[in-house]
Amino acid sequence: MGAVATLLLAIFAAAAAPKRPNMPAGWTWPPSAPMRAAGSECLARLDEAGVVYAPGPATKKIATPVVLPALTVGELGLTPLRGKGSYPMDCQLAAAIAEVAPELGALGVRALRFRTLHEYRTVRKRGRDTKILSRHALGLAIDVFGVELEDGRVLAVESDWATQPKLAEIVAVFASSPRFRTPLTPANDPGDHGDHVHLEAHMRL
Ligand SMILES: [Zn+2]
Repeated sequence: MGAVATLLLAIFAAAAAPKRPNMPAGWTWPPSAPMRAAGSECLARLDEAGVVYAPGPATKKIATPVVLPALTVGELGLTPLRGKGSYPMDCQLAAAIAEVAPELGALGVRALRFRTLHEYRTVRKRGRDTKILSRHALGLAIDVFGVELEDGRVLAVESDWATQPKLAEIVAVFASSPRFRTPLTPANDPGDHGDHVHLEAHMRL
């Protein structure tokens, strides 16, 4: 192949590359009309599910920010390991959690212990920052480090994943829900997720 052809191919390849890798399909910033419509529909779902929430403060790259004043989604608690805060998230994440909350309750889960919810940053792979904007930056992801069970036990992903199959059972609830993308766990991504499970909601437009 000639140099010109090679150059042209390279130009086409660059032009075809997505400008916003890893963003939900149709996602734009500022939020487009379809995104705002999806947000309104989502808030209606939270109302229907009886989730106590307040519209969140305008938060960078969260399309439909909400806060949960009691950090509960129905019967399920969200325990912040970093301490008190308002923890804004996208409505889509709150609504997705609300959908699986009864199933988690049936497994004896009282609360998810989390460290990161919204955080404006890029994806980290093998401990290094990439150029891809993280779903945490969109308020769609939560990092769960452990769970509190009805019987009083607290299981930590880092120390209990290998010996407590309960944790994998709990993650399976998220894995099988169409509202969530595939969870990242010590099983499928031990390098970056050895001590927590990354859960992220789909944003479907
Ligand atoms: Zn994460």
